Amino acid sequence: MVRVGIVALQGGIAEHQHMVRLAAQKLDLGVEVVLLKKASDAKDLDAIIIPGGESTTIGVLAKRTGLMDRLKEMILEGTPTLGTCAGAILMAKKLSGTRGQQPTLGVMDVEVHRNYFGRQRESFEIDLNIDFLEGPPFRGIFIRAPAFTDFWNGARSAASINVNGKKVDVVAVEGSMIATSFHPELTGDTRIHEYLIKLAKK
Ligand code: GLN
Repeated sequence: MVRVGIVALQGGIAEHQHMVRLAAQKLDLGVEVVLLKKASDAKDLDAIIIPGGESTTIGVLAKRTGLMDRLKEMILEGTPTLGTCAGAILMAKKLSGTRGQQPTLGVMDVEVHRNYFGRQRESFEIDLNIDFLEGPPFRGIFIRAPAFTDFWNGARSAASINVNGKKVDVVAVEGSMIATSFHPELTGDTRIHEYLIKLAKK
């Protein structure tokens, strides 16, 4: 049995919940999903998911409820964590493309540029080769997506795309943290969620 906590303040909560259940089924594992709204919800978790949505909103709410500090503690203790889109923004230690300050977890040694693709490419889909996944390319669904613009210490890029001849990094990993620019919960492909659950079982 694995217990997966999903930050449930705003954004794609139900979609991640669905994917976690499907992924656990494929791995033949029992799963319990815990919706995280306040600090006291976050206990005895084997893995954490921070969904996409609006990073400022999620950050402000998480700070207010005390969930932010609790999550930060658990992630730094090594609880495997997946952040998607706004979730990736919340995990980064350094932000660009954003005005002023916004509350974040600041746990990953990466710089994230918010809304990297700008207006012209607000939303798009593209096949990705993610270095820790086996099998066919993963379909990346990008919605007002960020990109990873710098990595240091133990963080590295696990997938990139080509934008007008320039390599743009869209998946970051560091220890048991995974952050994606795109929305794996909007595909039928459970491989990233399976990967997280496998990390949680280790
Ligand atoms: N653009 C959003 C932000 O900056 C992220 C978009 C998303 O999660 N789909 O927070």
